[in-house]
Amino acid sequence: MTNASTVVKAGIDLGGTGTRIIIRGESGILNTMTLPTAEFCQLEQKDRAQTLASHVLALIPKGMELISLGLGASGPVDTASGIINNKDTLECFSFFPLVDELKKILGINVAIDNDAVAAVLGEYHFGAGKNSQRLLMVTLGTGIGVALLDKGIPFRTSDHQHPEAGHIPVSGNPATCYCGLRGCWEMLASRTWLQQNLEALLPRTPFEKQDISFYQTMSAEREEVAAIFHRYGNYLGRGLVTLLTLYGPDLTILSGSAAHYYPLFKSGLEESLMRADAYAINKRIVPSELGDIAGALGATVIPELN
Ligand SMILES: [Zn+2]
Repeated sequence: MTNASTVVKAGIDLGGTGTRIIIRGESGILNTMTLPTAEFCQLEQKDRAQTLASHVLALIPKGMELISLGLGASGPVDTASGIINNKDTLECFSFFPLVDELKKILGINVAIDNDAVAAVLGEYHFGAGKNSQRLLMVTLGTGIGVALLDKGIPFRTSDHQHPEAGHIPVSGNPATCYCGLRGCWEMLASRTWLQQNLEALLPRTPFEKQDISFYQTMSAEREEVAAIFHRYGNYLGRGLVTLLTLYGPDLTILSGSAAHYYPLFKSGLEESLMRADAYAINKRIVPSELGDIAGALGATVIPELN
């Protein structure tokens, strides 16, 4: 029989830029490593799973046994076949049976899901979402990622897909989104919108080089800067109110790089969530506790779902 204190689980967050591996034991995180995803793209396709498995095995502490591996991948993922279908940002891990190959190499249970699902599982088991019965997580990055858990189980569409809820129309904006609809939530409320609008107003200050204290000062000094954050909160609320109304989560977690600015857009967000008492919705919103590691840590739980 295996001793519970010597078994470990691995999780991998496969992102367009970075691949993060976490080894979790009974006592918590035992080891972690982040590699540039581009490193794998230089390899022949047949060597990618083997190299990934070798990195995982190298992180297992001596005397411990790896019993499962979970992967969270950006973009569309077929959880049943274990194949990623992301030609846009994760092509080098797409369109081949990555999960089956890893199973063969490691001889353990391997499972995959979307990275938004992995992140919400991380917060539910180890972070800000503990004890939530219905947990919504909204990630504000290049686009908007949404994941919902009901008593820890991911919500899926009838064909087992992860709902791409960043693509719900919230405005009359005539520009067409890459998903084919017009006025999508993610066109107005992703970090991309915030960044573009702040950089248009403050062209000499690149968004990624600033922090919240800089924008707090700028918002106090210039009304136009405060107005951008307020409008951003408003746009974020337009999509969020739809999700809160339909799914009634008891907690919403905001994550992603734009979530750092929550104190600056909170008033705009609250304004667009205001409703008459009879239509009140649960507006408990908190920032992510785990930040960038939520995906890889949550991925360690994915094999237990299947
Ligand atoms: Zn769209």
